[in-house]
Amino acid sequence: MTAYLITSVSVVGAAPTDLLIRDGVVAEVGPGLSAPDATVIDGTGLVALPGLVDLHTHLREPGREDAETVESGSRAAALGGYTAVCAMANTSPVADTAGVVEQVWRLGREAGLVDVQPIGAVTVGLAGERLAELGAMADSAARVRIFSDDGHCVADPKLMRRALEYVKAFDGIIAQHAEEPRLTEGAQMHEGEVSTRLGLIGWPAVAEEAIIARDVLLAEHVGSRLHVCHVSTAGSVEVLRQAKARGVRVTAEVTPHHLLLTDERAESYDPVFKVNPPLRTAADIAALRAALADGVLDVIATDHAPHAVEDKECEWAYARPGMLGLETALSIALEVLGPRWDLIAERMSRTPARIAGLTGHGIDPAPGVPANLTLVDPSARRTIEPTELASRSRNTPYARMTLPGRIVATFLRGEPTVLDGKAVN
Ligand SMILES: [Zn+2]
Repeated sequence: MTAYLITSVSVVGAAPTDLLIRDGVVAEVGPGLSAPDATVIDGTGLVALPGLVDLHTHLREPGREDAETVESGSRAAALGGYTAVCAMANTSPVADTAGVVEQVWRLGREAGLVDVQPIGAVTVGLAGERLAELGAMADSAARVRIFSDDGHCVADPKLMRRALEYVKAFDGIIAQHAEEPRLTEGAQMHEGEVSTRLGLIGWPAVAEEAIIARDVLLAEHVGSRLHVCHVSTAGSVEVLRQAKARGVRVTAEVTPHHLLLTDERAESYDPVFKVNPPLRTAADIAALRAALADGVLDVIATDHAPHAVEDKECEWAYARPGMLGLETALSIALEVLGPRWDLIAERMSRTPARIAGLTGHGIDPAPGVPANLTLVDPSARRTIEPTELASRSRNTPYARMTLPGRIVATFLRGEPTVLDGKAVN
């Protein structure tokens, strides 16, 4: 195992220091370190962050390996500064049994680029009719703690209540894709001025807010942990703010695209901007950014959703919703938050690691800590070229945009997965 000495690096925005990585851990932190056997990385101008942790990644394997595999998605994650990702259950077959979650977990270990923590489905086949084998998935080698039908809402309140009750026994979490399906039938984009102008069926904010309101009450009633996926509206923020003030055990995430892009992007009819929940208004973006800063929103999660060309480069109405996120998330966070490193570390690493219960992740580099970290060059600017992404898919909404920040290196348990901005394997 090679040792690495990173010189003059800022740890989460602090004054520059040296950082020695040896035997999988951060061995020493301090100025003027020397280690003759170590490979030296000049960290001047770079910021070391605890490795990023994504609570919401679609890796598409098994079933849609043409769009992404566990390995290609893991590489995209490492290049984005991630050391752990939670893989959503809407694969084919669905990750609703111990067998499938163990398969995904094993594929993640084999790829070895990030820790892949499978999320299990709440209901069999994501059909919303009966509970999946939550206990068997929790007891499996994958040790599933988060369950989600993401892509679909657990719309039946009785089923949602039972799911919350079931996971309480092992302090599990139900992560809800909040979308009242009756209110979004045929929806193509955010319901508002732009949808009216374009003549597209709208996805009203209330369809999200109504489910979140119901679910925080259910979670409060049961005393269970609820996590809300991809919060996208100002109204949802207010529901969450009130629930948190009452002490409900709820956490919530926001995606990079909901922090940056508005529904006006739909005017291009470019399906790369079609996503679920849809891009909202500038007022929603302002509320989401404020909630991210004050903690009502706990986490930035990517909702990385790779799609094959035929599912995306078609008419808007037929295109699948979803966009890539892993390789651009930190840049979007920098664009939106500026160099607030402690806040970025909190929202993209420490808190998601704590929510998912991922030991060894989300810990600032310090002596004895597992060396799961990433090095960012905040002064770099890069223009996003879809063909240069490591993902198997090309559906980035940031194509040809110039964004701040570049991941220079990522370490997983002391081994580099990215060096000089390139994937090591
Ligand atoms: Zn979703």
